[in-house]
Amino acid sequence: LAFLTLLLAGCSETQSHPTIVDGSRTFSTPRHTTYTPDYTPDYKTKKTADYKPYTPGKTTPAYTGPKTLRGRTIIVDPGHGGKDPGAGEVGYSNVFEKHIVLDISMELARQLKARGARVIMTRIDDRFIPLENRAAIADKYNADLLISVHADSAPDSSVFGPTIYIADNPSYISRKVAGKINDSLYTNSLRPRGIRNAAFKVLVNHSRPSVLVECGYLTNRADANRLNSSWYKKKVAQAISNGVTNSLGSRNYYPAK
Ligand SMILES: [Zn+2]
Repeated sequence: LAFLTLLLAGCSETQSHPTIVDGSRTFSTPRHTTYTPDYTPDYKTKKTADYKPYTPGKTTPAYTGPKTLRGRTIIVDPGHGGKDPGAGEVGYSNVFEKHIVLDISMELARQLKARGARVIMTRIDDRFIPLENRAAIADKYNADLLISVHADSAPDSSVFGPTIYIADNPSYISRKVAGKINDSLYTNSLRPRGIRNAAFKVLVNHSRPSVLVECGYLTNRADANRLNSSWYKKKVAQAISNGVTNSLGSRNYYPAK
């Protein structure tokens, strides 16, 4: 079962790089792409009039506005990095997984921050970080959530679509977040493959809620093309961000005048 899980998981853990000795900074390869977000999420275009004011002493109005992530601490963990390129050396992508998932993670972090979350990233450039260190960051900051972002690979090139992983014995919050991310991917027509369990270190080597999102398969030609496009990176980041907001967000009432 463990072997099967690893096979399905593809790149999630680095079997090809088992010797993790040197956790020191590695700034080896310069980024080959510069990613500039250039779209406006809907919470920025929403008019103030869209919010229902809260009036004390009266019946609480029906919730209509977006939720806020204020007060939440979220760890965004771009998979791989530095000497560990991830799954990119296989499949139809000529760009390593580590670069793709960093782009998606940067956009995800930007969106979560814009919604009020305190966001901590395990890396913001191309460096190697041991899995144990990534997990430890979740405990160190007492995070409300750790999201690890990856791209997948499989022996069968016809397999496509994002997959969400949670621990074998996930917390209620982990399950809830995974469910909402899955819903959000689905409603954005990103065709998620569903939620699976796996004992990945970034999911189980700490005590905080956590999910790992595989954003698609680099071994599938169409997925690889999508994963190398900035529209897909933005779309998948927004779907994840919406899922997190729907599960961890709180109602954002304007204070009474
Ligand atoms: Zn990976």
